[in-house]
Amino acid sequence: MIGVTDPGVRRNNNEDAYLVVPEIGLAVLADGMGGHLAGEVASGIAVDIVRRNLIGAFARGDDENDCDALERRSLRQAIELANSAIHEAAATRPECAGMGATVVATILFGDKICIAHVGDSRVYRLRSGRLEQITQDHSMIQELVRRGFISQEEARQSVNRNVVTRALGVEAQVNVDIGEHDVVADDLYLLCSDGLSDVLTDEVILEILQAQQGDWEGALRQLVMQVNACGGPDNVSVVLVHADPPFTRNRQAVQQLEQLIN
Ligand code: CA
Repeated sequence: MIGVTDPGVRRNNNEDAYLVVPEIGLAVLADGMGGHLAGEVASGIAVDIVRRNLIGAFARGDDENDCDALERRSLRQAIELANSAIHEAAATRPECAGMGATVVATILFGDKICIAHVGDSRVYRLRSGRLEQITQDHSMIQELVRRGFISQEEARQSVNRNVVTRALGVEAQVNVDIGEHDVVADDLYLLCSDGLSDVLTDEVILEILQAQQGDWEGALRQLVMQVNACGGPDNVSVVLVHADPPFTRNRQAVQQLEQLIN
């Protein structure tokens, strides 16, 4: 798993954040919002809290014999805790007032992947030459697409496309979308902020991934270059998770990792 984040061409700061923790099969990406550095604070809190809580949960290994539920439950809890932390910081630190973040996170386990999201950051899956969007944006515009009022292409052009209907930190509670999917060998999962998906069509993303033939670092470079060549209007972040199931966690390695971060 590897990732990249880039401020883009028109912005000086980068409000996106991502982390990968191969030991626990975790990838997490957040896109912050809020004035003057607050967006950076929000996305930073989001990825850090998700990472810490998942490492903690897997190091303890609570409920090991109910393994499937562990990933789902831990991921949901970690995102809910990130929501509370951002909400609290926004309420108590004047410079953070009104901040929020989207989040998208994936965890590999066995021959499955658990995918959670809030907001309009996305997960795509590339399988057998086909690129498919797995998450449904929590945005006004996608709601209109879903109801058949406008087309996907009209949505891409809309000036209102960045209005999200759900985000971390906005309210004390958050409703997290979470799903579990079967993984097959050679699946590629792509997590991204809207700085990628607003600028490049699915066809262009697919073309770049296929042209790189397994050179994932090269693919990340190409994706960012292409976005910036198209004007780079927003921060852009992409994480690639190449799956080789079954994925197993080494409890000892996770426990060592836990000691490192505490
Ligand atoms: Ca963005």
